[in-house]
Amino acid sequence: GAVEPVLDVRGLSARYGHVEALKGADLCAGKGELIAVLGPNGAGKSTLLRAIMGLIPNQGEVRFEGASLVRRDPVGVARKGVVLVPEGRGIFGSMTVYENLELGAYKIGRNKHELQRRLTHVFELFPRLKERLSQLSGSMSGGEQQMLAVGRAMMADPKVLLLDEPSLGLAPRVTGEILETLGTLSASGLPVVLVEQKAPLALKLACRAYLFSLGRIVATIDPREVKSHDELAQYYFA
Ligand code: ATP
Repeated sequence: GAVEPVLDVRGLSARYGHVEALKGADLCAGKGELIAVLGPNGAGKSTLLRAIMGLIPNQGEVRFEGASLVRRDPVGVARKGVVLVPEGRGIFGSMTVYENLELGAYKIGRNKHELQRRLTHVFELFPRLKERLSQLSGSMSGGEQQMLAVGRAMMADPKVLLLDEPSLGLAPRVTGEILETLGTLSASGLPVVLVEQKAPLALKLACRAYLFSLGRIVATIDPREVKSHDELAQYYFA
């Protein structure tokens, strides 16, 4: 039969008081897929990620590796392997790069060998981090801090990686570098869910894109079929 997607979101909803921020989202990400979540400010993209992690009260089902994911406790969700790189990165600026990376690997206890293996992988993804290990994270450039945020998430050895606008506030070049690395990760098998306002960039990498508006998915887009910016704009303003 058909292989179940690694992450399968069904009818996921969430509200902030009276604001219905997410209204029954259905989407999935399989092995080796990078999916893009697009849409204007306030469309509900961050809320989707928070609901998947269980960071806010929510309704609906999230299936992970074929079983329903209990989303009462975000730490438990992360321990299963669903790891979020939040908007604003969430790294500790007064700690060194190395200390931040070490924190990402909280599951492995005192296993030095495993720690080293994961560090080596992260340095392959972002060689810059290796050169900056003893630097205080807060003194790095925005791009370097975003690399660290992704690197720290990879230290947890995720089974699914969720990212909330990693390009926010970054120059085009470093954005390209980071998104390319996400492409490499998904190509190596890791499902990646990329929330991104810069639709053209995300569509270059994604195998599928979900367009959000006012808390709903209003279109599922096959990037190969988007021929021009005008066509994309039609989705936004439809
Ligand atoms: P952005 O890219 O601007 O973050 P988004 O698509 O991620 O946009 P969300 O942050 O998910 O959008 O917000 C969806 C809706 O929920 C918006 O109307 C927003 O104002 C509202 N909202 C988000 N967080 C809260 C909160 N903590 N309390 C109340 N309303 C909120």
